[in-house]
Amino acid sequence: DTQREAVLAALDNVAARLADEKKYLTNLDSEIGDADHGTNMERGFGKAAEKRDEFAEMDPHEIVKNIGTTLISNVGGAAGPLYGGSIMFSSQELQDGITAETSVAFAEAYLEKVKDRGGAQVGSKTMVDALTPAVHTYKKSIEQDDLPPLTALAKAVDAAERGVEFTVPIKALKGRASFLDWRSVGHQDPGATSTLFIMEELLRTAE
Ligand code: ADP
Ligand code: MG
Ligand code: MG
Repeated sequence: DTQREAVLAALDNVAARLADEKKYLTNLDSEIGDADHGTNMERGFGKAAEKRDEFAEMDPHEIVKNIGTTLISNVGGAAGPLYGGSIMFSSQELQDGITAETSVAFAEAYLEKVKDRGGAQVGSKTMVDALTPAVHTYKKSIEQDDLPPLTALAKAVDAAERGVEFTVPIKALKGRASFLDWRSVGHQDPGATSTLFIMEELLRTAE
């Protein structure tokens, strides 16, 4: 099954990338948090990638759901339930397979769940700042501009990158970084950054 293989390849690439970026993400989190974001993300996606054998018989949406539950039980902190719970919830949009249409529905459901769970909006200096422009760009590229999913995803990655840059000069309103008040200004948000890395690997896998 090619969709299953694609999901598993994406999972491997994401896990490898987050392992590579562990120090970088943890350094970002040491500036405005508790210096664990890289370790958290490496552990969570590492555990998920280890489940390859269990995933061998599953449908793509079941694999995605299982990645979510694995993140919930292994990432911890704020990012665990946000990433894990939102992936788990939005996996149901992929029940009929992964197409341009269902991938837009997945992306939208994911963003809504992250916002709903975390209460962050654009400008709160969180992963929502990378995710929101990315999801809107992806949806528009597919539904209005009729672009192929790969081109749409490349545009979404660019949008996420600008979203990450946008987190630097603003003050954190959610999560641990908000405890620093104005001292969070001038630092890049770790969760927005890991969101960008994950999206870059999804694109790389699809290319
Ligand atoms: P913790 O802060 O519990 O140690 P992590 O360091 O793993 O968890 O993750 C921190 C990241 O989680 C932040 O950089 C931010 O992007 C994201 N985050 C924290 N709180 C929220 C929230 N309420 N809504 C959305 N994202 C959040
Ligand atoms: Mg942290
Ligand atoms: Mg922590």
